[in-house]
Amino acid sequence: MNAPYAPAAVTGCVMPGADELPSAVAPAATLAPADRAALLRRAERERNARKAAEQLLTEKSRALWSALQNARESERRLNLALWATGEGIWEWDLSSGQVRIAGLVVDGQPRPLDPATMDQWIGHLHSADQAAVRAELDRHARNESSHIDLDCRFHHQQAWRWLRIRGRALQRDAQGRALQVTGTIRDVSDQHEAEALRQLMAHAFASTLDALVVVQDGWTVVQANAAFEALMGLEGGGMVGQHLQDLLRFEPSLHEPEPWRGEARMQDEAGDRAFEVAITRIAARPGHPQQHLVALRDISERRRAEQALERMALFDSLTGLANRAAINQHLVARVTRSGGPAFSLMFVDLDGFKGVNDSFGHRAGDLLLQEAAERLRNTLPQAFIGRWGGDEFVVVLPDGGGDYLLREGAQLIIATLGQPFLIDGHRLAVTPSIGAVNCPADGTDAALLLRRADAAMYAATAQGRTCLVIYAPRLDDGVERRSRLQSLVRSDAERNAFHFVVQPKVNAAGRTTGAELLMRWTTEEFGAVSPAEFIPIAEQIGMIPLMGRHALHAAARIAHEVRALGSDASVAVNLSPRQLLRPDLERTVLHACQHNRVAPSQIELELTESALVTDIGHVEKLLVRLRRHGFKLALDDFGTGYSSLSHLRNLPFHKVKIDRSFVMDLDRSPKSRVMLEGLVRLCSNLGLGTVAEGVETETQFALLRAMGVDEYQGYLFARPQWQTQWIATLRQQLAG
Ligand code: C2E
Ligand code: CA
Ligand code: CA
Repeated sequence: MNAPYAPAAVTGCVMPGADELPSAVAPAATLAPADRAALLRRAERERNARKAAEQLLTEKSRALWSALQNARESERRLNLALWATGEGIWEWDLSSGQVRIAGLVVDGQPRPLDPATMDQWIGHLHSADQAAVRAELDRHARNESSHIDLDCRFHHQQAWRWLRIRGRALQRDAQGRALQVTGTIRDVSDQHEAEALRQLMAHAFASTLDALVVVQDGWTVVQANAAFEALMGLEGGGMVGQHLQDLLRFEPSLHEPEPWRGEARMQDEAGDRAFEVAITRIAARPGHPQQHLVALRDISERRRAEQALERMALFDSLTGLANRAAINQHLVARVTRSGGPAFSLMFVDLDGFKGVNDSFGHRAGDLLLQEAAERLRNTLPQAFIGRWGGDEFVVVLPDGGGDYLLREGAQLIIATLGQPFLIDGHRLAVTPSIGAVNCPADGTDAALLLRRADAAMYAATAQGRTCLVIYAPRLDDGVERRSRLQSLVRSDAERNAFHFVVQPKVNAAGRTTGAELLMRWTTEEFGAVSPAEFIPIAEQIGMIPLMGRHALHAAARIAHEVRALGSDASVAVNLSPRQLLRPDLERTVLHACQHNRVAPSQIELELTESALVTDIGHVEKLLVRLRRHGFKLALDDFGTGYSSLSHLRNLPFHKVKIDRSFVMDLDRSPKSRVMLEGLVRLCSNLGLGTVAEGVETETQFALLRAMGVDEYQGYLFARPQWQTQWIATLRQQLAG
């Protein structure tokens, strides 16, 4: 490959050899001996001279060759060195404007470039860089800078690569203008990328919302970003030098920084804060201490939301007590501790709560439940307390049960819940009924224990107010009975198997003014069942609207017969609150009248106050329309629950039925008498008629009469009876 410079070629081409000499001189035979000798000497001299010249030439050639070799070796070394450093060389001859670039390596590959003018070369650069490059070169050419140092983008394989060009003038003319400039050129794209990345990282570190901190020598902070400083409330580099473990509590605890993911907590004035933490090791530079990057993300909100969800799943949102699911969970855990300690469980029901809800609205009811929960918590701080639903609470006493402890606990509960509740300016009273079971004596299954406690509570409610009933096997019958009755009510309502009796009402003179229709039910299984028992069941399972429709038709049928007799006595029918909420009630009552050809004025509709609270606006409008149709409207059971005078004043009733409990007390309690007198007077002032219910004795009758009550109903006059019996009485009366 080096053929033109090979030594063989040097000797082979320089000059002819000595053997060729004779042909260049005259033949020796024709010369005299002296001449011949002189000639030979001359030839000898010439040969020697030629030899010397030849030798000199050979030596010179050798020196030249060796110099050439050295130069080539230097160039090779230079090229190698340039290649190793990734540098190329550029030369700019300003007189010709030519640029030569050699040894340029771009993206790891040699990139040969043809000589070109400086302008052509600049044309290969990114348009945004061209002006700056030109200006820098010109400045140096004019001797206005000591050297050239610039970065610019160069097009290479569909991409822009960054080149770093450095150089300096080798020669300048008398005016200082550069004649020749030379220097290095290299691809610095990787450094550029690294630098851009570094800048990006620095920017990200500074501006991310996540708190970042660099620690070394354990937990000592050497750098912290703004988010971290803000988090700690220490702006302006105040974090440096602090010990991170003095600020945060790692969970699980961590003594030394190490690559890790977990959580940390911090206590500040805002409360307990939680952070998600990631610790990463930063590649250590030799001779530098190991550093770690600690990244914190505030997850307090998320934790709070999770806790709220957890609470929602296990806690009753109204009272903050354990909810049904949590009660079950607690009991299951407690009974499965085989051989675990005995315990007692109570089911507490607030008698009278429904009245509060009905008379004062759900808000008052809610406040009462909250207060009741609070009282229970304070009274039995060691107990597990939950809200089973509605006005029912579950109390699980601490370990160690038995009837004695139950009685103690029940007494405390009765004492605290028996105190009046002051809500919205009203003193409201409820009384707890408590049913209780002992585990394991009464069962070792959570569901069974709850069922039995419920049965005991039901018995307590039935027995009267404020009492504790501890479970006994006979109580299971009550639970059985209720669920049997539910299914019987359902099927009998569908086949209209309920029938009706009437109880007459009389005026002060003892003359019949009307009668109240009362539902009756006899079952094969249980015999006669009181409406006081089956009406609430029917309400609960949603059968009451259907049964009520039958009652309305029965009342209208009887009213028709009464009319046919020529009597103007009315027939009263009870409406349940659930019926009032049905949009078709108005149509139903009108249809019952039309179908049986009676005027609405012959029908009296009895409503209890509980019908008025669910949606008083709706009920009020409905009552106004019913009154306009001609129906008589009576407010039933007045005086029970929380009778509200505003109901009397604002709603379009014709009459008020004073509850039996008032009448019952009349002969014994002067207080009752005073109240009743006031009430009757009030009603008469408001233009409302009065009916006294449950009149059983002559004394009661006399007292009521003295007060001016308009109508009377009770066993003293007549028991509920078959309609035929009442009609017969009516006929007699008319004849008389
Ligand atoms: P209520 O509307 O207050 O009916 C009066 C209740 O008092 C009746 O009980 C009646 O038998 C009873 N009673 C009447 N006079 C006396 C008395 O002098 N002394 C005593 N101790 N009690 C007397 P009953 O028939 O057992 O009805 C109970 C409740 O069942 C009724 O109370 C009413 O709220 C409801 N009810 C009865 N029939 C129907 C009905 O057809 N529809 C609806 N929605 N409820 C009904
Ligand atoms: Ca009634
Ligand atoms: Ca009543």
